[in-house]
Amino acid sequence: MVNHAGGCICGALRFEVTAPPLRVTVCHCRWCQRATGSAYMVEPVFDLAALRVTRGTPATYDHRSTGSGRLVHVHFCAACGTKLFLTFERFPGAAGVYAGSFDDPDWIAVRPEEAKHLYCEVARPETLLPAGAQAFPGHARANDGTPFEARVVPAALPARQVFAPGAVDAPGPRP
Ligand SMILES: [Zn+2]
Ligand SMILES: [Zn+2]
Repeated sequence: MVNHAGGCICGALRFEVTAPPLRVTVCHCRWCQRATGSAYMVEPVFDLAALRVTRGTPATYDHRSTGSGRLVHVHFCAACGTKLFLTFERFPGAAGVYAGSFDDPDWIAVRPEEAKHLYCEVARPETLLPAGAQAFPGHARANDGTPFEARVVPAALPARQVFAPGAVDAPGPRP
């Protein structure tokens, strides 16, 4: 595949990835809302070996997750403040890239059948999920790593309403 490059807004940091993402997560949690200053994080997760910094040295902020108690390392530009990627004590060998930092962010496809939408219960009220999206009220896995089952969104729906009582199992036409 063609390598995909990205970088911060001031240009001091550049990176590239040499493989497609292992998975794509859209995280609506409050931490990601704060960290991005926006509605949610579009997070393609790569094998750490497929990610390399090609210019500059990112600064790092180590955050202890209140959910897992493990450290999340935020890699960012000390000059302009742009966050580029995350690494995780909990998932060593993986890096979650801030999709907007790619030069061509559109190469990261957020397909309903592949992308997992996390923390839908605290998503911004106006954030809609498309039909077929895989939604989770919180994380996609328990702290011991056991995966939770996704709820598949039957029709476009505000993320916050996917887990409201009766929202997804609404009665259809009667036979
Ligand atoms: Zn910068
Ligand atoms: Zn998050």
